[in-house]
Amino acid sequence: MSGLTALRTYAQTNPAKIPASILFSHTSTSLTIYDAFPKGIFHFLVLPRVQEPFTVSELSDLRTLLSGDKARAKQVISALNEDAKALRKEIEEEMLARYGFKWNVWTGFHAVPSMAHLHLHVLSDDLLSEKFKHKKHYNSFHPKLGFFLDVDEVLSWFEAEDSYYTAMAKLDTKHYESMLKEDLSCWRCNASMKTIPALKAHLQEEWDTQAKREKAKIERRRKMEEKGGDAATTE
Ligand SMILES: [Zn+2]
Ligand SMILES: [Zn+2]
Repeated sequence: MSGLTALRTYAQTNPAKIPASILFSHTSTSLTIYDAFPKGIFHFLVLPRVQEPFTVSELSDLRTLLSGDKARAKQVISALNEDAKALRKEIEEEMLARYGFKWNVWTGFHAVPSMAHLHLHVLSDDLLSEKFKHKKHYNSFHPKLGFFLDVDEVLSWFEAEDSYYTAMAKLDTKHYESMLKEDLSCWRCNASMKTIPALKAHLQEEWDTQAKREKAKIERRRKMEEKGGDAATTE
């Protein structure tokens, strides 16, 4: 199966027939699959299943969806967002069980997708992964560059003036792709990075620091609760 159209195929497949190594879960309207090239410790894709009245071409990507009926587009994105919220809860439980603390999970679309069929990226913000090797991969998730469109931002377009919606819905490829060429920088502290290996080492340090801080917080809370003090509830 071609990597570029795999999502489109899954979206039209009975979930029971999709291998468990690929499919994480499904609902009546969506599939959640493991990203084949995870860019964070946790990285999933939530995609709409192709079902009446929606068509394959309408669900091709964010641009095709937004260029069609506005109410239908909002319905699709809101449903994906609800399923992503439930997924984030599961990820957080897994973070606590496996790592002893939880950290942020991003939910958004790429302005210009690399695979056919609409999909919402749900990934942990550590960005620690063997799979990211190129600047454009990193920049496509960098939350301050604009290529990664948070789902809440996209949903806010529906509430804005029509002219604003129309402008945003264009999702001009050239405009967005230029963002991928920006110099490497840490999305947390803005420090500029010369190479991908340097960036990865820095992101590892950032995450280790966060892990230490969060675990210390949990430990402090636990100790206070042991003492029976109600100070623990004031944080
Ligand atoms: Zn993507
Ligand atoms: Zn940094």
